Amino acid sequence: MKITKVETYLLDVPLKQRAITDSQTKLESVEFIAVRIDTDEGISGWGFNWNYTKGTRAVQAIIDDTYAPMLIGKDPLMYKNVLRELHYTNHFIGQVGVTRVGLCAIELALWDIKLKIVNMPLWKYLGPVKSKVKAYNTDGGWLQGTESELVKDMAFLVERGFDAVKMKIGLPDPREDYHRVKAVRKAIGDDIKLMVDVNTVWDLKTSKVWGHRLEELDVYWLEEPMNPFDKKAHAELARSINIPLAVGETIYTKYDFRDYIEMGAVDIVQADATKLSGIDEWLDVAALARCYNLEVIPHTNVQQKLHVQLAAASSNVPMVEYCYESLVDIWENPIQVVNGYYTLPEEPGLGCKLTDKILTECRIG
Ligand SMILES: [Mg+2]
Repeated sequence: MKITKVETYLLDVPLKQRAITDSQTKLESVEFIAVRIDTDEGISGWGFNWNYTKGTRAVQAIIDDTYAPMLIGKDPLMYKNVLRELHYTNHFIGQVGVTRVGLCAIELALWDIKLKIVNMPLWKYLGPVKSKVKAYNTDGGWLQGTESELVKDMAFLVERGFDAVKMKIGLPDPREDYHRVKAVRKAIGDDIKLMVDVNTVWDLKTSKVWGHRLEELDVYWLEEPMNPFDKKAHAELARSINIPLAVGETIYTKYDFRDYIEMGAVDIVQADATKLSGIDEWLDVAALARCYNLEVIPHTNVQQKLHVQLAAASSNVPMVEYCYESLVDIWENPIQVVNGYYTLPEEPGLGCKLTDKILTECRIG
């Protein structure tokens, strides 16, 4: 089997809900890069990656100019060798960020081809350890609403059957964050897991002071309090407070996860296959975390169908984030959540093809 063509689709997909904000971003749409890899045996594979801000055109350029010409004529089943070659071409322009996000989209498309050949979904191919996956919900906890709107939205998630929910913090005045968390805790009661996400805007001192205060509210984890490149500060914070630290959505290599884990700087490993180089590296991180008795709870927004399948095949992944519910139906055969649990996809392949309508109507390049 040989690769005959690589086509990229640059997409800007608007949210169907109101604009949403966290401490860093106001979000009205999500950019995607979708990749289709064709073969001489008529099987095509679909991969993707996503981005909150503008700039995904740079990912498309890397794929079109560098990766695609190198892929033509290659055997997709030898994908590990192929990806290694692509990775090393980035030696002098950077091996993380844009180059890796593009590499991941290629990896996912090559996995899709393999899974279509064996006629199985990813989770069955990997070997499942569970037949449904618990969801936790982030979609009611945005920063833009008033405290009473936030409380109402979070309480509604619990009414819908979610027993673990997450809210954004990181407002200019942490006292306001504290009051909002307190109000939510009061409304949802003590039996619901409540997580908070700073999106990296605190410094170490703020994280220590307000991390201690949040202990009173039984916060299940504190997510991305600080700059993710500062592992030393996370290690110091982890020794200082009694709330588990969650990091991973802006960590791009397994070597960085290794260092975080060995330094005792992370409790909840939020490895995201779309920020790593794809499925293989995510599985490496999950295995590494297992050796240290750590749970992996992958960061997820639009890529639920990918992470739910990885979770089903991993013993140390207790739940997967459910977010951007208004975008669930941009995928063919959209994933379902029933009573707080994801159902697993049954179609052969990776199951991560955007609908033809999205590929046509939202295409900008
Ligand atoms: Mg987060």
